[in-house]
Amino acid sequence: MTDLLRIPEFHDHEAVVYLNDKKSGLRGFIGIHNTNLGPAAGGTRYWHYTSEKDALRDAMRLSRAMTYKCALARVPHGGAKGVIMANSHHRASELFTAYAKRVNLLRGTFSTGEDVGLTPEHLRVLEKNSPYIIGRERFAGNPSPWAAKGVFHAMRAALETTFGTDEIAGRTFAIKGLGKVGTVLCGMLYERGGRIIGADIDAARVKSVKRKYPKVEIVSPKDIHHQRVDVFAPCALGDEFSKKTIPQLRCQVVCGGANNQLTTPEDGNRLHSWGILYVPDYLANGGGLINVVAELDKRGYSRKRVERKVQGIYGTAKEIIQRSRGENKPTSEVADRLAETIFLKKK
Ligand code: NAD
Repeated sequence: MTDLLRIPEFHDHEAVVYLNDKKSGLRGFIGIHNTNLGPAAGGTRYWHYTSEKDALRDAMRLSRAMTYKCALARVPHGGAKGVIMANSHHRASELFTAYAKRVNLLRGTFSTGEDVGLTPEHLRVLEKNSPYIIGRERFAGNPSPWAAKGVFHAMRAALETTFGTDEIAGRTFAIKGLGKVGTVLCGMLYERGGRIIGADIDAARVKSVKRKYPKVEIVSPKDIHHQRVDVFAPCALGDEFSKKTIPQLRCQVVCGGANNQLTTPEDGNRLHSWGILYVPDYLANGGGLINVVAELDKRGYSRKRVERKVQGIYGTAKEIIQRSRGENKPTSEVADRLAETIFLKKK
């Protein structure tokens, strides 16, 4: 175990729970990074890891990222994440029942919901066996429209600081990934008179967007990032920006819903030195988180409060952009420091 404690993803995590249940085959970890702001929240990932060490590293990395995301979303929660090692030899219902019982042992210090690999059926098992499951259909429901709204408000802040106005009409946008988040974002920009270029590897998604929004221009996924537009919105998968792709960009602003857009932290510096305004991904896409944790509000879930908080992403984005300009530092760096000030200060 001493070796595991030396893994690079450890950053002052408050607790790590090792999940092990022979009967159901449950193996995995719950990482609780920091609870200064309140009880921790974060999804549960169900994934094929090659070793326990890999699963642990993922739990450490993802739980820490959640602390930063919660801080910038201004929600009273800390960061955590559950990872379950996928094991096809065991029945999912038993596996997830065992997991729910482990979550219950934490008595609300950790609330969790859907992440990569979890199906609605898995969620139903979790909900049946634990009161600490969030993102439930009958309360917060689908987080994607909220994630898209957050991106939209973050984009307004970027447009205002870049062009002096947040007017969408007449501006050009390239959206990579026309999935759940990308399509809603596309609709919001389209309805406000934005000119949109889109791309997706899935022909059915493209067709559905074209049907709803006929004036959207479609290009190949390999060409979308180098369109000459005002804003490039990555809404597909991560690792969008690298040493290779950044010099190919021809936009002034990057602001999208995809997680982990920077391949390495260095890419935040690269975007900054190329004069491209990057709105940090975990700030822009925080609307989904805001909506889900609203279920934990003692006053009950309120759509109105969620709406207000998601709009607040505009103010945080503006603060980060202005500081970045004032200090001539990448927005990615400024965002991390701001998040740390928020979650480290509150004791
Ligand atoms: P999704 O699966 O519905 O959509 C992703 C889309 O990207 C799909 O249509 C897929 O075909 C497309 N795609 C994949 N690779 C591509 C490529 N190389 N070029 C073009 N298109 C490609 O997922 P989503 O829920 O819309 O999430 C999109 C991103 O936003 C993900 O990175 C996700 O982690 C992040 N995110 C989502 C939410 C949410 O609430 N859904 C919240 C926060 C962050």
